[in-house]
This record gives sequence, structure tokens and C-alpha cells, in this order.
Amino acid sequence: MPTPLEYGHAGERAYSGYYRHSGRLPVWGVAVALGAGVPVGVGLGIAYAYAVVFLPFVLAHLMLALLYGSLLGAVAAGIVRRVGGRSVAVTLAITAAITLVSYYASWAGWLHLVIERGGKAVPIWELLSRPVATVGLIDWYSRQGIWALTGEPSDRPIVLFCWAVEAVLIFGVALWTARGRASDVPYCEACKRWCVAAVLPNLRRPEDLGEIRRRMEAGDFDYLIGLGRREADAIAWIEPVHHSCPTCGGVNTLTLSEVHLEKGPKGLVGRSEKVIVNKLVVDAEVVGRLRGLA
Ligand SMILES: [Zn+2]
Repeated sequence: MPTPLEYGHAGERAYSGYYRHSGRLPVWGVAVALGAGVPVGVGLGIAYAYAVVFLPFVLAHLMLALLYGSLLGAVAAGIVRRVGGRSVAVTLAITAAITLVSYYASWAGWLHLVIERGGKAVPIWELLSRPVATVGLIDWYSRQGIWALTGEPSDRPIVLFCWAVEAVLIFGVALWTARGRASDVPYCEACKRWCVAAVLPNLRRPEDLGEIRRRMEAGDFDYLIGLGRREADAIAWIEPVHHSCPTCGGVNTLTLSEVHLEKGPKGLVGRSEKVIVNKLVVDAEVVGRLRGLA
């Protein structure tokens, strides 16, 4: 059966290269993604501001910034996926826009709390709706050296440095998370739906991991199948994941990871994973042979 996706390989090879998104996104999808993502982003931003104010420890603050950034990235990429967006660039642009609005909302929440502790009350929505006044207030607080509600005021350069580190963390983690999520599942253009993942039997790990990639890129799947199943007591193996369209059975891709159990003094302590081959388009027949490995 021919696969619906062809990437310019008309020769003898049994595969069509690596899967890549078509880059398509319905126009209405951008509006829906922003319309749904911005309110969630505003909520997350305000929640983050409250968490930061009530947990005034540097380590907690760092963890919160990482958590906040990864939530923003996951929410944005998740919404883009729901509207059928298969463009990494557009996913990143939408994530950046949602993160920017959310980050601004976190400032509004923070100012609201700081001003409240000073004995005055300014509603969050008023801060949200008046960006010029809000930025002016942030600037004023930075000149006072106030960046936390406890402790002594710091010098302005220190305050600005801390805020810059925080912003880089939030935006960096949000975009990094969204980038990973945007490209981890193939899309069936024929059926207009996302593929589903299935785990295949684990394979024995060969000495040279690069050899797997070279053989697969050369269309030599006998090599892969010849590895055989992983031994039960092995601490390193190859884990194949198969993605395909649940409707038409097309768009078959294989992702191979090396999985390695880390042994510590008290037995097995962890598991590390390294992707060797990322979504190589293959024939369904190859997948069937892998699945049938005894
Ligand atoms: Zn399909």
C-alpha cells in the first residue's frame, strides 16, 4: 500500500525520509488558539504572581518560573494541536504571543499584591487594562530596589538582573516546551487527524548506535529486525515507537530510542533515554515484521 506522504524519494529505497509537518494551519485556527490561549495565559500569569509572592525563597522562585514556563508552552502547543496546526514556526509564534500576555498579567498580579501590602488597593483588571501606567509602576518599584516583599531593598541593577533572568527562564522554557510538543506526533493530511503512538517489542542494543541510524536511512530494515528482541535482564535496549493514522493506517513512522537503566548503589535508580531515529517514514510491512518479532 503506498503511503499518502511522499517526500521526493522515488528510488529503490523502502522509506521516504523523515516525517516533517506540512506547515499547514487553518486560518481560523490561529484566532481560536489565541482566543483560547490568552485567557488561560492571563490566569496562569496571575496564579504565578501569587505563588511567587507567597513563596519568597529563591529556589522556590526558580522552580515556579520553570513550572510556569513549561505550563505556558504545554497549554499553547496543546491548543494549536487541537485546532490541527502542524507548523512548528506558527506554534512558536502563538506560544510567544500567549507567553507575552501572560507575563504581563503576572506583573499586574504582582503589582496588585505589592500595592495592597502598602495599604492601597488597585484592582488587577485596572492594571491589566492600563499598560503604560503598569510599566511606569514596575519602573518605579525597580528604582526603589523592591523585587520581593520581604528583605531589604536591593540596588536597581540587581533587581533588573533578577527580573531579566526570570523573564529569560519563563520565555525560554515556554518556547522549548512548545517546540518539543509541536513536532512529536505526525499528522495524516489525508484524514485530517493526528497519528497515534504504539510501542513495539524492545530490541537488543547493538554496540554501535550510529549503525542503526545509517542502516535505517539506507532503507536496510533487515538489520534492525535482525537485532532481535531485548534480553529480559538487559539494562540497555532499543525502544521502537510506531506512529500511524488510526483511520487509514497510513503515515507510518518509526522512532527509535536507546533506553538505559542507571545503576546506583541501591540498585536501579533511573532510566535515561536518547532518541536515535526520529520519525522515519517506513512501510507498514516493516512495522508488521517488528511487531511479529518473537
Ligand atoms: Zn489517515
